[in-house]
Amino acid sequence: MSAKAIVIGSGVMGASIAYSLAKRGYSVTVVDKKSGPAQGSTGATSAIIRFTYSLRDSIALAWEAKHVWENLREHVGADDSEPVADFIRTGMAVIEIPGLIPANVRSDFTELAIPFAEWDAADLARELPGVDTANHYPPVRPDDPAFLDECEEPATALYTPDGGYISDPVLATENFVRAAKRHGATFSYNSQVIGLHSSARASHDGSHPDELPTDQNGPTDAAGAAWTVELADGRILEAAVVVNAAGPWSAKLNELAGVGSDHGVSLTPLRQEVHTLPAESTVVRADGTPIPAVLDAGIGTYMRAEVGHQLLVGGSEPECDELEWLEDPDDASMSVRPVQFETQALRAAKRFTDIAIPNRARGVVGVYDVSSDWTPIYDRSDADGFYQAVGTSGNQFKNAPMVGELMAALIDAVEHGHDHDADPVRVRLEHTGGELNLGTFSRLRTPAGTSGNVMG
Ligand SMILES: Cc1cc2nc3c(=O)[nH]c(=O)nc-3n(C[C@H](O)[C@H](O)[C@H](O)COP(=O)(O)OP(=O)(O)OC[C@H]3O[C@@H](n4cnc5c(N)ncnc54)[C@H](O)[C@@H]3O)c2cc1C
Repeated sequence: MSAKAIVIGSGVMGASIAYSLAKRGYSVTVVDKKSGPAQGSTGATSAIIRFTYSLRDSIALAWEAKHVWENLREHVGADDSEPVADFIRTGMAVIEIPGLIPANVRSDFTELAIPFAEWDAADLARELPGVDTANHYPPVRPDDPAFLDECEEPATALYTPDGGYISDPVLATENFVRAAKRHGATFSYNSQVIGLHSSARASHDGSHPDELPTDQNGPTDAAGAAWTVELADGRILEAAVVVNAAGPWSAKLNELAGVGSDHGVSLTPLRQEVHTLPAESTVVRADGTPIPAVLDAGIGTYMRAEVGHQLLVGGSEPECDELEWLEDPDDASMSVRPVQFETQALRAAKRFTDIAIPNRARGVVGVYDVSSDWTPIYDRSDADGFYQAVGTSGNQFKNAPMVGELMAALIDAVEHGHDHDADPVRVRLEHTGGELNLGTFSRLRTPAGTSGNVMG
């Protein structure tokens, strides 16, 4: 009998993890309280692919994942009749301001063979139609008189030609769902988890009395189910392995499971808005290709071309903006606020001079699952059999195909007796070479020294 795994959450992470586990022979059930895939934070994502992170392992993970996105059809085993999400390679320009780009980034890029270039104002002017090439910082709100200050200093940027975005994040999630189903996984929607109880394999004490033996068909459930999962409709599911992939609801699920007291980093939901502006002359270059994505922390935004000749504008958590931390993600108002739209639109118009601001606010609302160091937790928990892919901090969509693979490797190793806390699992990076030390994403870490914002 194959080992049973229940994945909580059918966002991009849960779907990818379900696929990778099912491929390894687990009997996977995915439960989600929404009515279909990608209706949590994945449905609001900007889906930008970039490599500028504070930690070398985060950079290496994003670089490897980019290669998987480029080969998504092959990765998920989709035939030609299935539409598959595209990686749109636009390049990414990170406009430099003091203290933004950690010192390690350029040396890590060199070591990992990630192509990059130093752009000056002339490069920005050539690649971004109608761009204002002055450097603007620190970020201020539009009602601050300093917002109108002129700046003489020309902007420079760190440019990576392999940056870009995923054309359709919902389709990408569906691609993982279909792939998981091809390997026998089942998906149960409108299925809210309201209770999580462990039995046989109680709590993690360093010993593994119930290690799963392996037969030629993959892992087996010799020790029997250790977890019961209680659903709001009265159903009870059982499995040896439970994975928390509940996005911004992750802390609630950990609470239900009674895990997390050993965490070195905390998890808090943060409401976010991403806006869209009509911007035909801004987002398309003379040759018809979309402009590079831009991280413009000096004015407090990131921006990229969006389908329909629009500019998509998100925030980079500048200190002048009040952040909307939530007790419960379900408390988030899901309507775009006109004042937030106007703030971000005016900021975008400061960088791109051709932008006209419409009267009606347009955009989406989503919630980040923010960890205290804006770096995810990809790990086990203090209870045997309970795993977590959480704390994705607004910056992990890009890693989803790899998160499936690394969580499956970690779960498989731990279920077969490996002490991941003492000797972190390492995952081989098939496309880019080298190894990823999953200890970087341990729940037990002291918060890492990172940007302290969505850059990670
Ligand atoms: C506005 C926004 C912009 C972003 N931009 C980028 C970007 O440009 N680049 C990038 O790399 N990343 C970005 N991210 C981050 C990225 O989108 C997320 O890290 C990723 O989508 C998280 O996926 P997930 O599957 O973990 O969570 P989710 O998509 O939130 O899925 C979690 C699922 O769990 C389900 N669930 C929760 N509780 C329960 C329960 N009790 N029972 C059953 N089901 C439950 C929910 O219904 C939900 O479907 C952005 C995120 C947001 C919100």
